[in-house]
Amino acid sequence: MRQKKIHYIYNKEMECMDPEERRKLQGERLRKTVELEYANVPAYRARMDEAGVKPEDINSIDDIVKLPFMQKTDLRDNFPFGLFAADRKDIIRIQGSSGTTGKPVVAGYTQNDIDVWTEMVARAIKCAGGGEDDVIQIAYGYGLFTGGLGAHQGATKVGAMVVPMSSGNTQRQIMMMKELGATMLCCTPSYATYLAETIREMGIDPSELKIKSGYFGAEPWTEEMRQHLEELLDFDAFDIYGLTEIGGPGVAFECFEKNGMHINEDHVLAEIIDPVTEEPLPDGVPGELVFTTLTKTGTPMIRYRTHDICTLTHGTCACGRTTVKMSRITGRTDDMLVIRGVNVFPSQIESVLLGVEEASAHYMIVVDRVNSQDKLTVQVELKEDVDMGDVAKLAAIASRIKTDIKQTLLISAKVELVPPKTIPRSEGKAKRITDNRHIGF
Ligand code: ADP
Ligand code: ZN
Repeated sequence: MRQKKIHYIYNKEMECMDPEERRKLQGERLRKTVELEYANVPAYRARMDEAGVKPEDINSIDDIVKLPFMQKTDLRDNFPFGLFAADRKDIIRIQGSSGTTGKPVVAGYTQNDIDVWTEMVARAIKCAGGGEDDVIQIAYGYGLFTGGLGAHQGATKVGAMVVPMSSGNTQRQIMMMKELGATMLCCTPSYATYLAETIREMGIDPSELKIKSGYFGAEPWTEEMRQHLEELLDFDAFDIYGLTEIGGPGVAFECFEKNGMHINEDHVLAEIIDPVTEEPLPDGVPGELVFTTLTKTGTPMIRYRTHDICTLTHGTCACGRTTVKMSRITGRTDDMLVIRGVNVFPSQIESVLLGVEEASAHYMIVVDRVNSQDKLTVQVELKEDVDMGDVAKLAAIASRIKTDIKQTLLISAKVELVPPKTIPRSEGKAKRITDNRHIGF
């Protein structure tokens, strides 16, 4: 059921703030964040010292260019608590996502950080008309992953009736959606599509449901996928962006204009840089998105390189918000794959295979989209001395690799063992990934 396009705004003061005033506020918050980081995080202090910059040098947001960047490796190198800027006893929550070496990337949240994050998601839900009359079904996974709890907190904040389904159990999700009269849905876009297609297959017409809108994020999707989804469920599908390191879903969210995601700029400062020269790029030019948290106290991040590619657009939106908008993510500057919302690096799979005696160093990661769900297949080339006729042994090897991958990546993969010299060799950079997901379908 489509709803009327009304521009609801949760926090007018902040979301519609005069841009000059906001820049001043951001400057003050940036200075505080840098002071906190310099005082409490030795790894970043060392980097600032190396760059010859002190907190006193940061007097407005224009000074941000003086500050060194942070990377995912900083989180890994300082795992688990090295980047905490707050006292251990003030950290009340850990959230994380799978990291590049199998170690999760974790961030610590203080009560303040949870409150900020909750408000960011509440702004999104309110923006789509969500409030106390709504029944919001959360089909993101609950756990370390920020999707489930993030959406849950925001939905609770606007006073909705929350249905914490977590992901999976598709038939049951649909039964609950129908029986409880869910009006909003939050999950990954691929799972939303799978749910919508299953609803149709079950012979349920959208008019039998009360779903009016949904927020979908944690992985890239396209305008075509939105249209497909909106047609299937006859509702409004909105994009929501986030990452564990900065604050989970709600860092940015779409309004009814559906032409970019408003970044919650009073809490996070966005820059677009050329990933090679690291120079800032103007509005409309695609580059790497870089975030600085302005109000986080648990694990503040300064000029964090997301590796996500998009553009920024400043100006006042038809919805009334003055916050900068980011476009859809069009790609990444590293080889990270996002599979079912989980970050996967080929190097993680490689490290698993390196521990398997019978496996050679040649492998191929194949990603397909089947029934709108990502499917991961790892083709592993066996060493020459492995007996390809010993079926029982081959099954045991495949099963062991499958278990190891699941333990390291936290997602399931199909493992195919292939004979020696069958994986194509490369003279340049090895191509480890065959991504057959035509983004969208
Ligand atoms: P989360 O737990 O919030 O999904 P992760 O740290 O696991 O965070 O993954 C973050 C990454 O997921 C982002 O850097 C980005 O590549 C991808 N991502 C998140 N939201 C979106 C979105 N709406 N569109 C495209 N990619 C997204
Ligand atoms: Zn808008």
